[in-house]
Amino acid sequence: MRQQLYFSPTLRDIPQGADIPSHQLMLRAGLLRQTASGIYSYLPLGRKVLRKVEQIIREEMDEAGGQELLMPAIQPAELWEESGRLDDYGPELMRLNDRNEREFALGPTHEEVITSLVRDEINSYKKLPMNLYQIQTKYRDERRPRFGVLRSREFIMKDAYSFDADEESLANSYDSMYEAYTNIFKRCGLDFRAVQADAGAIGGKGGTHEFMVLSDVGEDTIAYSDASDYAANLEIAALPDIYEKSEPPEAQIEMLETPNMKTIEELQRGLQISSKNMLKSILFIVDENPVLIVCRGDHEINEIKVGHAFDSDNVKLADDNQIASIIGTEAGFIGPVGIPEDVMVMADFAVKTVYSGISGANQLNKHFKNVHPGRDFQIARYGDFRFVQDGDTSPDGQGTIQFAKGIEVGHVFKLGTKYSEAMGAVYLDENGRSNPIMMGCYGIGVSRTLAAIIEQNHDENGLAWPRSVAPFDLHLLVLNPKQEEQYDLGEKLYGTLKQQGYDVLYDDRKERAGVKFKDADLFGLPVRIACGKKASEGIVEVKARQNGEMEEVHISDLSTYLS
Ligand code: ATP
Ligand code: MG
Ligand code: MG
Ligand code: MG
Repeated sequence: MRQQLYFSPTLRDIPQGADIPSHQLMLRAGLLRQTASGIYSYLPLGRKVLRKVEQIIREEMDEAGGQELLMPAIQPAELWEESGRLDDYGPELMRLNDRNEREFALGPTHEEVITSLVRDEINSYKKLPMNLYQIQTKYRDERRPRFGVLRSREFIMKDAYSFDADEESLANSYDSMYEAYTNIFKRCGLDFRAVQADAGAIGGKGGTHEFMVLSDVGEDTIAYSDASDYAANLEIAALPDIYEKSEPPEAQIEMLETPNMKTIEELQRGLQISSKNMLKSILFIVDENPVLIVCRGDHEINEIKVGHAFDSDNVKLADDNQIASIIGTEAGFIGPVGIPEDVMVMADFAVKTVYSGISGANQLNKHFKNVHPGRDFQIARYGDFRFVQDGDTSPDGQGTIQFAKGIEVGHVFKLGTKYSEAMGAVYLDENGRSNPIMMGCYGIGVSRTLAAIIEQNHDENGLAWPRSVAPFDLHLLVLNPKQEEQYDLGEKLYGTLKQQGYDVLYDDRKERAGVKFKDADLFGLPVRIACGKKASEGIVEVKARQNGEMEEVHISDLSTYLS
């Protein structure tokens, strides 16, 4: 590709509103432009990298037995009614009507569509197991779109769904997805951890893992061992099956002075309690029930949209006596996975309600709008756990616990029969008996992965792509195209390198050498080949972007050098 005509508008300065390196560099190097808040256009360089990541994903998914299909982004609301998620999903679901006032949604995920497809076509155990996937655009009206494509409202996801006859077979499907994900993120050159995540009401133990790219800009906190593979997200790291005997978390609760706050505004102003052990917490009474909100880690406590989760009329702060009566008793613990994102909620009624599944959900919904067991939170008995702390011995006995920030790039999840039961996806077994199909779902944020790769592969001068995902293999520069020998050598090399199968970006522009070098560093292609003053001797300067090593190479040695 000749750079003269290439659509890759660069920016010298850090663009306003771009707070993290990947967002800044994607704008500066011309990979991305914002079209609306949380909605982006990928320019040719960005599109090329997306394709590379998608290709790696396809290869590994196909290798694991996945079959690629493509489902619609527009989904009829009736399907969401069937699964029970039309109301449940909340404001993240983008809704629209057609000209006949029929209701639709822009798919944030595809459990409903795929379950309806499979229920109509798969009826026998002979067709199971099956794994179907797609790479497609998803829509989520995120409360706070930010960090460019790390959290956008339109994004690209690879989503896969497995269908099995029984639990054992589901476990195999799950394991093979886990392995495929490990391969994918390794091939993308990422430093990541697969962490045990919230199993919630659906998955059961070991039923879900998140793939976290280690990065300071990550919004999740993970606890991991410095000497083994143990890793868990903070919610699960506090669960009793990991830490058996522990003290009740008295030290983590401090009282707020202002009592009897009623309105959401007052609540938000009142949310200023902070305490030790990475927790900020506050206790409310909701409909006579004590509810403790615990905010994790570095989250700003005033970012919590309490109004989103609570019916404000019946909320007031607990007093000391009420707190005392809860600690050490039957209080429950709920940690959200979805909404509200930054909050964990504790309530003593939760123990009674959440374990009983759907009725529990209904009861909870009186207090928490759009919050759902399993998807949004999990529960443990309050007195049974404490939060993992820095320097603790790892639960597997190997090494000590460290904390890190992570970007969730992938998520594997055993769904069980949640959707197949709600939507009637059944198969006949060998004895002709009808059973609900066991399902799993497996997502990768393709566009988020792109940003995560940049977070781990850049320096102060720009991008520094791993070879496997670089938009071009080589950046060929003619430093002074007006100088005939340089120009001729550049043209010749451009031809032969392409012929040898390299994807080459060829800087044939009439710019100063300094500008070209700066742009080459900004684009970050793995190898830069510059035709300069020694062109007449057939010598070029070759630089490896990642380690900065530079060497003069005669063109007759170039192919050996590059291979
Ligand atoms: P998060 O916790 O970051 O909101 P999620 O748990 O809601 O993500 P999943 O429902 O597990 O996301 O979706 C699968 C994958 O899709 C995620 O692991 C992530 O990589 C990606 N993803 C989810 N939401 C977004 C978004 N708003 N922008 C970009 N990628 C996203
Ligand atoms: Mg998540
Ligand atoms: Mg989310
Ligand atoms: Mg997730």
